[in-house]
Amino acid sequence: MSALDRPVARLRAQDLTLAYGETAVVDRLSLEVPTGRITSLVGPNGSGKSTLLKGLARLLQPAGGAAYLDDGPIHRMNTRHVAREVSVLAQRGEAPDGLTVRELLSYGRFPHRNFLGFANRNDEQTIERALDIAGVTHLADRPIGGLSGGQRQLAWIAMTLAQDAPILLLDEPTTFLDMAHQLEVLDLLQQLQVEHHRTIVLVLHDINLAARYSHRLVALHAGTIRYQGSPEEVMTPAMLGDVFAVEASILHDDVHNCPYCIPLRPLRD
Ligand code: ADP
Repeated sequence: MSALDRPVARLRAQDLTLAYGETAVVDRLSLEVPTGRITSLVGPNGSGKSTLLKGLARLLQPAGGAAYLDDGPIHRMNTRHVAREVSVLAQRGEAPDGLTVRELLSYGRFPHRNFLGFANRNDEQTIERALDIAGVTHLADRPIGGLSGGQRQLAWIAMTLAQDAPILLLDEPTTFLDMAHQLEVLDLLQQLQVEHHRTIVLVLHDINLAARYSHRLVALHAGTIRYQGSPEEVMTPAMLGDVFAVEASILHDDVHNCPYCIPLRPLRD
């Protein structure tokens, strides 16, 4: 892609600092999220991936700098406006007791409702479509509390889809899912990007899946960006050593035309 046809980033962070109490976890970080592409945040446990995603999603107030949606700092924007543009799957969502899958999805439609909050025909169709896309139509009337971890994860993904926002931020969307469901979810996100030009930011634990499905990898270490670029640029032995503290071989996956790594051994200081 040339610089000329590179779309303007709708979502970006500028000198963003995020802290819990006095402890800064993300430190003056700047990032442009490419519009209409899939970006994955990767890094070891505790490197600040989830925290950064929460900052971009305005679930955390910045301690410094800001995340911007279009021209404005996202934390100063109207909630309903942000919810129409950005849909978030946070980690370990808890649904109220007894809530069914369909009811959960109807919450996702709130930003689109009129001031009385009534569902309309379009809401119902969007909910049915999201249930279908996420493959949970057969679970629609089941209480979420009674589902398996994987089914629950799919229900939350369906809710994220029902919100029908152009920007999707998903923290570990493949957690609790078996291999087939992991691929299903990532194929689905890829399809949303290709066919509907969604902008997608993922936190992914599995760097090989991240390299396969993402246009851009952002590798975090101790709350700062250490490497970013295409999977080919980022997935190198140097990055795996610096960021993940492992010695690794990098091979090429000819089927998906992307790099993949084989971790060999942990590196010790
Ligand atoms: P990652 O997603 O890369 O595993 P996180 O963003 O979850 O990392 O965490 C980064 C750091 O922030 C860790 O040291 C973690 O312990 C700390 N942290 C995360 N959430 C909280 C919280 N709610 N309160 C205090 N510290 C937190």
